[in-house]
Amino acid sequence: MTYHRTNLARYRDIEFQPADEIRRVQEVLLREHVNYCAANSPYYRALFEKYAINPGEITLDNLPGIPPTGKEDLESKNDEFIATSTEKIVDIVFSSGTTGRPTRIVYTENDLQRLAYNEHQSFGAAGVTEHDTVLLTCTMDRCFVAGLAYFLGTRSIGAAAVRNGHGTMESHLEIIQRIAPSVIVGVPSFLLKLAAHINASGNEAAFNTVEKLFCIGEPVRNGDMAYLPAGEKLKNLWDTAVYSTYASTETVTTFCECTEECGGHLHPELAVVEVLDEEGTPAKHGSQGEVVVTPLGAEGMPLLRFKTGDISFLIDEPCGCGRRSPRLGPVLARKKQMIKLKGTTLYPQTIALALGDIPEISEHLLEVSSSDDLSDSVTVHVALNDPALSAEQVAKRLQSRLRVKPEVVIQPLAELRGRIFSPRYRKPIRFIDRREKRETIS
Ligand SMILES: [Zn+2]
Repeated sequence: MTYHRTNLARYRDIEFQPADEIRRVQEVLLREHVNYCAANSPYYRALFEKYAINPGEITLDNLPGIPPTGKEDLESKNDEFIATSTEKIVDIVFSSGTTGRPTRIVYTENDLQRLAYNEHQSFGAAGVTEHDTVLLTCTMDRCFVAGLAYFLGTRSIGAAAVRNGHGTMESHLEIIQRIAPSVIVGVPSFLLKLAAHINASGNEAAFNTVEKLFCIGEPVRNGDMAYLPAGEKLKNLWDTAVYSTYASTETVTTFCECTEECGGHLHPELAVVEVLDEEGTPAKHGSQGEVVVTPLGAEGMPLLRFKTGDISFLIDEPCGCGRRSPRLGPVLARKKQMIKLKGTTLYPQTIALALGDIPEISEHLLEVSSSDDLSDSVTVHVALNDPALSAEQVAKRLQSRLRVKPEVVIQPLAELRGRIFSPRYRKPIRFIDRREKRETIS
């Protein structure tokens, strides 16, 4: 059994190098990663054999010809992905599976060090230094990796971490007042609630020391890179820089915005990132498609061409920070949430954006179920602040944006809020998917 021994620190400045140097380094690291998979991963050994692939011949150019790995593969053949011996495993987490049963992901010491390096690079590009104090509002436990990743990154860069995780609003406010953090990491909807709590309790001075927010788990920008309403509110309420990060548990890799706040920088030494169109071929640059990640150097469960299920796009234009690596746009949708409605395909986020542009709507909740034909059935539940507006009028306004007319049901505000802000979930529920085999909420 062989192990990766790549010294990542020597690639710390690779993002500033010319494109051909970035490519040269990626070829070397891809070869090393593929060799590791071939030597240690039962899943990839079987895949190479099945498709008569010579791993020694895989390059950046022909990588798109390798069959991708889906979440369902990771779930159904979980043990076969483990590419290390038991004594090398130091952390075990779970990611949400396709059928609701969480998928086990194992990390080695090298994987955690790689993650620390990744977050060091991300925080560093956004201007975090050893002088900062970082309040982590994401949990360190419950078998999630996010909180651990940001803690490792904070440590790596030498800043002070304050791990209040899923603490109460009151405890977060008290910590902000006592410790005066300059950086907060958290889920946007939670950071909005925290800001509302700070305002409602008359402690506006608590906003003063915070300079940067790192937003995880929910997008804050749309496809034009402008702020979504939540991002705009965060920026205004906290009066800080708002950085968006993208990560996945399976690929143990994250991409974060730099001080220019214009998309998450790819780290060439950590991952090869592709965006695939509906046919599974590389999307034209800048076009939307599914994000597919090959996490270079991942050791516990190495992956080749992992389909994240997230829809986004790559930005190739040079960045004001001087880095030459492409950037990943915001997650615009989840592929499995794609809705087929009357011959059109659309995503819940598209409907949510259209709803956000109707000022008479106070709250909204989307429900999708299977119907008899090939179409899905979509019901939009709304609470209105204008009693004169009818469900039909709302449906027509949505139709003008979406091209199809969903069913609209008006509900009293308190009743709808009761469904959206369930005490069982930390995030507001705005999408209920009742289609066969994928009953989920998000
Ligand atoms: Zn940049």
